[in-house]
Amino acid sequence: MDQNSPEAIIAIQAAMKASALCEKIRTNLSGGGTHLKSDRSPVTIADYGSQAIICKLIREKFPQDTIVAEEDSKELRKSDRSRILEQVTSDVNAFISGSSSEEVCSWIDVGSNSVSDRFWALDPIDGTKGFLRGDQYAIALALIEKGKVTLGVLACPNLYTDVHHPLGEKGCLFLALRGKGSFQMDSTGANKRPIFVSKAKSPSEAIITESVEPDHADHLTHQRLAQKLNISRPSLRMDSQAKYGILARGEVTLYLRVPSSADPGYRENIWDHAAGSIIAEEAGGRVTDVLGRPLDFSSGIKMEKNQGILVSNGILHEVVLKALEM
Ligand code: AMP
Ligand code: MG
Repeated sequence: MDQNSPEAIIAIQAAMKASALCEKIRTNLSGGGTHLKSDRSPVTIADYGSQAIICKLIREKFPQDTIVAEEDSKELRKSDRSRILEQVTSDVNAFISGSSSEEVCSWIDVGSNSVSDRFWALDPIDGTKGFLRGDQYAIALALIEKGKVTLGVLACPNLYTDVHHPLGEKGCLFLALRGKGSFQMDSTGANKRPIFVSKAKSPSEAIITESVEPDHADHLTHQRLAQKLNISRPSLRMDSQAKYGILARGEVTLYLRVPSSADPGYRENIWDHAAGSIIAEEAGGRVTDVLGRPLDFSSGIKMEKNQGILVSNGILHEVVLKALEM
């Protein structure tokens, strides 16, 4: 597979449309359109719209492929949610004209819960809390073949394109293909360039990135690890898989996700790491869990065999794993 493969072309097109939809909704957001799912995690009209668009485009092009995705239309079909469904339908129509509410629900429900030999993993909005706060979020889409991620696309609509101008242009699209490198483009697909991880050789040069949400990772353990490794620069807290993007382009050196002590049994979802992991790896980085095990994308929607996540520039991986044994 290369950048001209139908898989890469459709994944980029789908992520671009979803990204435009999300930004349109985010900039008009006035607190409406959000509700809590039964697990109390937030879902917005943008999550539904993004999933509908991406599932429709992938299903149309690759009717045989499974798509494992985070949302389904169950809540959306409830009678007291009809205003939300109307809004989702109207937003999707701006990108796929003539779509009915029934079609939008059926596209969302292309998403399945079970993995197969070849499937797509989709997080229509990763970092919903960041999205609602006006911070970072991502649209994350990956192709997984025989348990290996072979393609990853990550749209980060609110991420600055150039670290030297953090208040400048925003909207990045990351693409990686196995064995073919990682690239960053603008939201429109322009300015495509290869990206590489940092060359930091000593932990003291490193910068850590971690979740904003304290429930998603153990910030205290991260801080202790930083002290142990003489990392003096402050950690960069960021929502979503945008963390993988900034590591892949060399802005930070380590992404730590030690399971939170509030929920030590938590297992990561495949769609929260599939796209990001290939983008970091193809840029020269290394991705494992906090015990050094490779990430398992073949067993189901949860990475049951893994605990937490460690992403590095490769060079520093072993020394950090060693320090995590504390
Ligand atoms: P982040 O923005 O990196 O904090 O990650 C957002 C993702 O964290 C969401 O998509 C959730 O699937 C995931 N998440 C939810 N609860 C937890 C938890 N207890 N530990 C780790 N990740 C979680
Ligand atoms: Mg997510």
